[in-house]
Order: sequence, then structure tokens, then C-alpha cells
Amino acid sequence: MTNLLSVRNLDAFYGDFQALFGVDLDVEAGEVVALVGANGAGKSTFLASVTGLLPTRPGSILLRGANIAGEPAFRIARAGVAMSPEGRRLFASLSVEENLRLGATGGRKGHWSLEKVQALFPILKEKRRQGASELSGGQQQAVAIGRALMANPDLLLLDEVSLGLAPVVVRDIYESLPAIRAAGTAVIVVEQDIGRATEISDRLYCLQEGRVNLTGRSRQLTRDQIGAAYFGRA
Ligand code: ATP
Repeated sequence: MTNLLSVRNLDAFYGDFQALFGVDLDVEAGEVVALVGANGAGKSTFLASVTGLLPTRPGSILLRGANIAGEPAFRIARAGVAMSPEGRRLFASLSVEENLRLGATGGRKGHWSLEKVQALFPILKEKRRQGASELSGGQQQAVAIGRALMANPDLLLLDEVSLGLAPVVVRDIYESLPAIRAAGTAVIVVEQDIGRATEISDRLYCLQEGRVNLTGRSRQLTRDQIGAAYFGRA
């Protein structure tokens, strides 16, 4: 069976600075994969490479077996990859519903619709006419995830969902993951919190200084193993 996403030997550069070194990472359809690592390990760079925001060499990123490396971001989005970015990047002057509808402009058909997203996060229905900037941080995070789902992606990338949110709010957000994967959408979650990352994922990758230094089934990895990899003692 072809993996949904197969990244092979991915390097990434900012000018002369190399941020990723030979990264291999796979995601199967409907799987939740956690990507952990300390500040500056290369997690956001990895997501930027997969979404086409950071140019990469052709050949190292396969989506359903097709090469998407080097493709422009809009084509990769249409091929089924959507991201909820770090910092959420909502349109502050637009309403919640308008923000959500903007996610659907790629024209992909599938499970997710405004109604389905509102059923996943009922607060987004309740607050649909309010300006996005009037919502709490957790509610804004729900808008950002909902907007990404509106594109009907096969692969959803979540960058630092928990940033600046209280633990109970983060838990509420991550409780949406089973429903998202049940709809057939695979997820890569970038997360700083090792415990949380292992709880919510099927498999986990740890990056350290641009290299994968640990990977495995989340339930089989011990906290000590992950901690050592995270802090570069693996
Ligand atoms: P964080 O948790 O802080 O977001 P991260 O694991 O996502 O960290 P990246 O943001 O991918 O890490 O950064 C990886 C490396 O690339 C770091 O050394 C960072 O300083 C560098 N870097 C990131 N963005 C740029 C850029 N636009 N220009 C130059 N270097 C960059």
C-alpha cells in the first residue's frame, strides 16, 4: 500500500543555513503522527517544506506516490494538504463563519462542510457572526483548525496548537482528533509537550538540530527515550 505521505532524505535551507538534514517521515491515511523537538529543532521548517512554503529539491516529498516537492503551495493545498499555522493567522476583521468559508476556496470535495466543522466545534456555530479577534485563544485555535478542515485535506498539519493556551483548553482541542481521523483525515501534530504528543498520536518522530533521532509507535516509546532524544542525549 502506498503511504499517504512519504518524505525521503529531505534537506531544507534558509540561504546557506541548513535547517533539515536527510529527514525521512511517513504518514499513513487516517494516522495521527506527532513531531516533537526542542525550540529550533526544525519542526516548523519541516511543515513549511511539506506545504511548499519553503522551496525544496524535487523528489523528496511524495503524496500518494506523486512527487509534490518543488510544487507551489497552492498546488500542494489542492492536492490535499492543509495547515493550521502557529499563531493561527486568522482574518481578525472577518467573522468566524467567513474565516471558515475561506478555507473551502480550493474546491476539494469530501467529508468536511461548514455544518460538519460546526458540529466538531459547536462554539464556532454559536459565535459564527462574531469577529474572529473577539474570540478566546482556544476558540481562535478551533477556527484555525476548522478553516483547514474546510479545505477537505487528506493531511492536516497542526503547528503548535497548545501555544499560549491553558492545558484544559488544549485538551478540548485535541479531543477533536479522533473525529478528524475517523473522517479519514491524517494529521501531523507539532507539539512541544512530550507527554501530550505521545497520548494523542499513533506514531512519533523526534527532531534534534534538523535530524530525526527517534521514531516509533507512541505507545511503545518510553518517556525516558523520548526525553533523551528531545534533549539530544539519544
Ligand atoms: P520552534 O518550536 O521554536 O518553532 P522549530 O522546531 O519549529 O522551533 P524551526 O522554526 O523550524 O524550528 O527552525 C529550525 C532552524 O532554522 C532554527 O535554527 C531557526 O533559527 C532556523 N530558521 C527558521 N526560520 C528561519 C528563517 N526564516 N531564516 C533563517 N533561519 C531560520
